[in-house]
This record gives sequence, structure tokens and C-alpha cells, in this order.
Amino acid sequence: MITETFVQKMEEIVGASYVRKTGADLELYSYDASLVTGRPGLIVFPATTEEVSKVLKAAHDHGVPSVARGFATNLSGGTIISDGGLVISLSRFDEILGIYPESRYAVVQTGVTNLELQDALSPLGLFYAPDPASQKVSTIGGNVGENSGGPRCLKYGVTSNHILGMQMVMADGEVVEIGGPAFDPPGYDVRGLVVGSEGCVGIVTEITVRITPKTESVITMLAVYDAISDAAKTVSEIISTGIVPNTLEMMDNTIIQAVEKGGPCGYPTDAAAVLIIEVEGVAVGLKEQAEKIREICMATGCRDVKTAKNQAERDLLWKGRRGAFGAICNLSPNYLVNDGCVLRTKLPEALERVKAISDQYGCPVGNVFHAGDGNLHPLLMFDSRNEAEVEQVHKAGWDIMAVCAELGGTISGEHGIGHEKQDAMSMVFSGHDLNTQQNVKLALDPSDLMNPGKIIPLPPEGSDRLPDQEPTILKRPGGKDATGVSEAIEAIKQAKNENRAIRLAGSGSYNGMGNALTAEPVSINSLQMKEIIEYDTENQFITVGAGMSLMELQEKLAENNQWLPIRPPFCKPESTTGGIVAMAAVGPERSSYGAPRDMLLGLQYIDSNGQMVSTGGKVVKNVAGYDMTRLLTGSAGTLGLITEASWKIATRPEACQLASAVGSLEACATVAAEVIASNLLPNSVTAVQQNGDWQLMVGFEGIAGVVSYQIEQCLGLMSKAGLKDGAHRDYPVVEGCFTEIYATLEQQPFVAQSEVALGKVSQAYQKIEKICSPEAALIDFGCGRIFASFSSLDTTQWDNMNNVFSGAQGHGKLLKSTDDFRKGNDVYGLKKSEWQLTHMIKSALDPEGVFSPGALPGRA
Ligand SMILES: Cc1cc2nc3c(=O)[nH]c(=O)nc-3n(C[C@H](O)[C@H](O)[C@H](O)COP(=O)(O)OP(=O)(O)OC[C@H]3O[C@@H](n4cnc5c(N)ncnc54)[C@H](O)[C@@H]3O)c2cc1C
Repeated sequence: MITETFVQKMEEIVGASYVRKTGADLELYSYDASLVTGRPGLIVFPATTEEVSKVLKAAHDHGVPSVARGFATNLSGGTIISDGGLVISLSRFDEILGIYPESRYAVVQTGVTNLELQDALSPLGLFYAPDPASQKVSTIGGNVGENSGGPRCLKYGVTSNHILGMQMVMADGEVVEIGGPAFDPPGYDVRGLVVGSEGCVGIVTEITVRITPKTESVITMLAVYDAISDAAKTVSEIISTGIVPNTLEMMDNTIIQAVEKGGPCGYPTDAAAVLIIEVEGVAVGLKEQAEKIREICMATGCRDVKTAKNQAERDLLWKGRRGAFGAICNLSPNYLVNDGCVLRTKLPEALERVKAISDQYGCPVGNVFHAGDGNLHPLLMFDSRNEAEVEQVHKAGWDIMAVCAELGGTISGEHGIGHEKQDAMSMVFSGHDLNTQQNVKLALDPSDLMNPGKIIPLPPEGSDRLPDQEPTILKRPGGKDATGVSEAIEAIKQAKNENRAIRLAGSGSYNGMGNALTAEPVSINSLQMKEIIEYDTENQFITVGAGMSLMELQEKLAENNQWLPIRPPFCKPESTTGGIVAMAAVGPERSSYGAPRDMLLGLQYIDSNGQMVSTGGKVVKNVAGYDMTRLLTGSAGTLGLITEASWKIATRPEACQLASAVGSLEACATVAAEVIASNLLPNSVTAVQQNGDWQLMVGFEGIAGVVSYQIEQCLGLMSKAGLKDGAHRDYPVVEGCFTEIYATLEQQPFVAQSEVALGKVSQAYQKIEKICSPEAALIDFGCGRIFASFSSLDTTQWDNMNNVFSGAQGHGKLLKSTDDFRKGNDVYGLKKSEWQLTHMIKSALDPEGVFSPGALPGRA
């Protein structure tokens, strides 16, 4: 606990004026935006990573638990530390360290608020996509801690989709760099794990965020309803047509009244509900999209659709939405907000049941929520001075979480678990799932000093494990009962009993990747697991056995004009979806659709004990627990056999067209940069080496008219820059346009893949050319990626290449190499400090190292 010696140590590290220990200060820091309270023992305000490191080292040495605090707007008790622990406030980390528009990233200190970053980016025509309603007062570090969402996340995804890297201080004071400006670093997705970890695995001091160009045009509408269920129907209907608005935000009459009482925002006070709908993109075709949306609204019971005529009207509509939580003070002294998520089509039922719960417990409710994501925010009103009301409101909150779990959703979409919801984690996870999550936390914080006692329910007295029971409410189909799973469980147990190493596989098409194994393995595969476990066309998700090939899956989805928007390179007809998850394989479409990590909603896998573990769920927003789904994605068979995966799917684009032209690499790179900086929205921007010349290829996908317009514009840019042979053609939705170049690349014994900062990709390639001339190459300007193949490669050339990748703020790996080469070299290139975290997690989840020993980066 906190002793006088410890206080003195803190004063030495941060200076006496940055240490608070008086009663009034301690009282002040006993609160966050939740209803949880707890008095800390000391508060410190470090200003540098070095100070944070020293503070944590001292806390570690003295056994003092600590919690990172941004601006404490979290709604789950995440920043409350009871029993006299240490609060580490990050309010002095308030600088934007750099904005790099050409490489589409920015580096910020953790205490910069979301709005400060937006304000700095806006004049450059850029934005940071996650936009929590609390953006004025919530920090980027806090957004990372909670994996925050916001209105815009329907189209752009939540915080995790936009974090590229971070500097983090571990519990013992060690500083690690995780990721960086380049996409998809090798090793486990530690960034994905840290995002949403609520300060329980380390303190993040600097963050590299992905930034996005503003679109050319935006249309904001207000749809007005006489019945809230009609508004919910509109939401499902819009998404199922394939239009993805950037926002679909709903407010009910109670919220409308509260907001309008605080100052008119143009919401009709007699409406049962309003929807704020916003679409954006290239100007061409946008009005037609808005008109289609208006028609859907009117066909689903809407009374009226108003369109904002200018920025002032748009701002007013948003002012009301962003101020909705605060406006509750016009109706009630306190509120408890839930943030469970349900499948979109279940919104009407969920809202009815929320109303019934509110009536049952006598706490009036107002609803304001991210309807497009099915993310509810019932605000339950009460008076905290009345103990009976406090008790009732907590019961109502618990019941609402249970309803969300029962409707196939989750207990938290974006606000986090903290103290407030930790017991409810048992509604959606088994005891073993939760123990596995806790193992990951303890792998990174073995003394359990970082924000202890949060997220995972506390085990019963006298035990350090939770009992091995099934989730109390959520029923997950598939699991142990799915075809082939029990056989695989037995096979893993048997191999383990025989002390055999195990190579986990799908069809084996990716077997040659990764480092050489250090023991001769038995192979266990997922090929029998081919079932469709659940397919919900309306809510646009599918759960399939990991042994189903991507091709079979796409064929099934095509029957409903849907698809899974990934086109993994080197994918064979037999390549399984499980294998693709394990390899996190993704092509140039990543820049627009995202990677498998962004499309996976949940997984089930068999761990090294032969036990089933479930991660995530089937709703698009889910912050219940550590992000084990991301951890497994790209784990390359070293953590467990993935048995099934739930994917977010999409409506197939109406058109896919490619504009191409030929020129030097420099000319192609110049045009690529122009296209990326323009108002156009390409799906891929690449160049392929062809007979000594380069062909620039720019793909566009979506509504046919909008695609044709963009193709025309793009060919114009190509021609203006002097590129020759400008042409355009259609390409198939599922296969995309790179199958030929992948086949050419694969013909060589060595194939390298590297990701670097976007703006540095062509210079990096030119340096690689000098080290070892590639036989074929694909440069992906949209993702900062290079694929190159070589007829031969030696250690010195590989080392030199890795120095180039590292100099361009990236990394490289060999997708294909000879057995001889793999014996003496790490196919993941230069050692990185974050790899130690990969190995710490591997040791915690596979302590005997049965799965693919030696395969990980940095070799064991
Ligand atoms: C009116 C209102 C509206 C809101 N609207 C939204 C919304 O639209 N969407 C949404 O998702 N949330 C929303 N929230 C919740 C909240 O604002 C977010 O969770 C926000 O990200 C918290 O940021 P913060 O700086 O306040 O973090 P804090 O509350 O200080 O911390 C949040 C968590 O992150 C950890 N943490 C903080 N900084 C670090 C760090 N540097 N390193 C490691 N861990 C760290 C903390 O320990 C804690 O567990 C809203 C809250 C309010 C009060």
C-alpha cells in the first residue's frame, strides 16, 4: 500500500507539485462518469514516458496497484481504484506530436482529446474516424482504453480499426513500442489486445492513429416517426439494400423532449422517435442515395424526412445528438446508461423489453443510440439521494444486459466493463473463456497491479479461478457439438499426452509460412468443420466451420447477393476460412474494406488443453472483455485450432471496375499519390511490374454510376500524367483483379511481403531492387505494401531488406522460402521489442508449447 516512502519516491519522480494526497483531492478522484466510486490513496501527474516508467516501476516494487486516468468520462468505473491505490493521471500528455497526411497517420500523446485531434486534422481535409459523443472531453488514450465508438463508426468502424501503433509502459516500468505507421505487424495483434483493455495491461503514452480524408460531399437527414418500431425497421431496411450510411442515430420522444428543453435543435417534440441519417462520398450519385433512403424511410412508416440545407443546420442536428446524455439533467438528477448491443432486427423487441423493465422498476427511460450498430443506450433516470431508487436502477440495468445477451447480443458495445458490468460477463462467456482472458492479462501483468479487479468477474473466495460453467444467458450455437470438433479435441489431447508437437492446419495451403518448427509435428486440421452454423442475411453475419473454404463460403453468400469482402493473396480454391483467419491474409482491398481482424465478430477455438474457448460474439460492436478475437487472428496456429468463425458480411457491390495505364514506377507512384489525395474513393491502388514496365491499377467498387464516374476521372489523371495505354475493365467481385500477379509471384522460391508507411512504399521498393532484383512485384500504395518474389535470397540480402523496411517505418516477412533458408533465418526479419509480448502470451496460453513450436517471430 501507499507508504510515506512511496509518496516521497513519487515526488522525486514527478515533482512534489504533481503529487496530490489531500482529502479533497482524493475525494475528487473517487469518481468517474459511472455510478461506481472508490477513494484512491494518491494521485500523480507524470509528464513523460520516462516518468510513467519510473512511477510504474516504483509501484511494482512497492506492490502498489495503479490505474491510468484520462479524463474519466468512462461509464463503467474503469478509472476507479479502491483500497488506496495510485491514480496515474495522463492529463499532461497533451501534445499532438505529428501529422503525416501523405502516410495517413498522426502521432499523439495519450491525453490529447478526441476533438483536439479532429480540430488539428480538419484544416488538412482529414479526420480521425472514431467520434464518441464525449469527444470534447475524452482523451485518445481513454478511447483506446475503452475501444470507443461513436455515430460515425457504423461506416468507419470503432477505435480498434484506427489504431496503428502505440508506446506502452508495462507494469514493471518497461517501455515497449507496439506497431507503428505500417499496417499489420508480424506477431500477435497486441495492438488489438491493448485496445479495449481498460488500462489493465499497461499504460499507453503515445498513440499512432490512422487518419482518413474527408469526403467530397455529405447529406444529413432527420427522419421523423410516430412509432419507434418503425424507425427501427427503417434501420434494418437501409442496411439490407447495401447502402452504408456513416450514421444511423436514433432518439426517442423522452430524449427529444430533454434536448429541446435545453435549446431547440429542430426535433419535433411530438415525434415518437427521430433518426439522424448521414451519407457521404463522392458528390456524384450521393443525392440519389439520399433519395433512396428517403423512399425507404417513407415505406417503413416515417412521417417526414428533412434534409439539412447547410452546415449550420447540420451542426444543429448533431448538437442535439451529441448533447443528449447531458440533456437528461433537464429531466432527472441522475441516470444510469446501459450500452448493450443486439442484432439490428431485434431492436424493436429490445426496445419493448427495455420499456417493460423500466416500468417494472419504476425508473423512467429515454433512448438515444447508435441504431445502425444495434448499440442501445437506454438512459435510466433516478435520484441518487434515494437509496431505493439506486437499488432499483441497478436491477433494471442488470436485466437490460440480460435481454441483450438473450437476443444474441452482448452486454457492452462501447462503454466497457470496468467494475460496473464485470459480473455480467458470465452472461456471455463461460468460466473457461474468462479464465483464459485473465491468463492473457496476467501474462502481461503477472503481479496483477494494473487496474486490478476489473473486467473479469472475481473468483469465489479461496480460489484464483472461476468455476468452469457455461455462459448463463448467451447460447452459442456450434462449439463442441459442431461437426468434427470433438474429434479434433481428442486428437489434440492425445498428441499432448504423447508429448508431440502439433501443427494446426486448414487445407494446408498456408503450411509453408512462418519459421521452421523446432520439433516434428503431428498435423491436426479443421477440414471436417464445414458447416454453416448460423447465417442471418438481414443482420449480415454468418458463422461457419473453420474448414469451409472461402470459395464455398462466397458461393453460399452469392445466393443472397452478399459476400465476405476479403480477397486473400495466394488463396487456393481449397484454402479454408479458418486458415485465412489464422494467417490474417488480406490483399489490397484492405484499404477500403478492412482486414479479417475487422470483419470477424467472434471465434471458437480449441486451446492447448483441448478445451473450447469462445471469443467475441455476432454483433458488430462488442467490448465485453479482452479482444481475444483479434489475438487469435494472425496467430498462425500457435494458440489454438480455430473451429468456427462469425463474419460480418456485406451486400455485393453493383460494379467492380479497374482503371489501368502503363509507365515508370515514379510516374505510377505520382499518379497513385494523386488518386489517393483526390476526392475519389478507390478500393485499391496498386502497381504491377510487367516486362520491365509498370502498370498502375486502380480499382473502384460500388454503385455502377458512381464507379463509372470515378473510372473516368481516374483515367483522366493517368493520361494527364503521361501514363500510356489507359484502359478500363470489369473484374469479378470475389476473385478481384490480382490473381494473375499472385500466381506469377508464387512461381519463385522466395516471396516477401512488407508493410511500410504509406508514403514510403515506392522508395522502399527501389532500395529493395538494388539489394536483390525481384522477378515480379506488386506495390500496394493504398496499404503501403510490397509483394516481391526472388529466384534466390541469402541472409545478408534478407538483413539488408529488413533494414530498408525498418527505415521506412515498417516490417517484412517471407511468405515463401526454402527449408534451408528457414533453418538459419527468421522469416519475420528484424527483432522487435513487442515480440516479447507475443511470447509472453504464447507461454501463458500454451505453456507446454505444443502448437507449432519455433514458428513465432523471434523464434522461441
Ligand atoms: C456524455 C458522455 C457521452 C459519451 N459518449 C460516448 C460515445 O458516443 N461512444 C463511446 O464509446 N463512449 C462514450 N462515452 C464514454 C467515454 O467518454 C469513453 O469511454 C471515453 O473513451 C473515455 O475517455 P477518457 O479520456 O475519459 O478515459 P477514462 O475514463 O479516463 O479512462 C477509460 C479507461 O481507459 C483507461 N485508460 C485511460 N487512459 C489510458 C492510457 N493512456 N493507457 C491505458 N489505459 C488508459 C482507464 O484506466 C480506463 O479503464 C461517453 C461518456 C459520456 C460521459
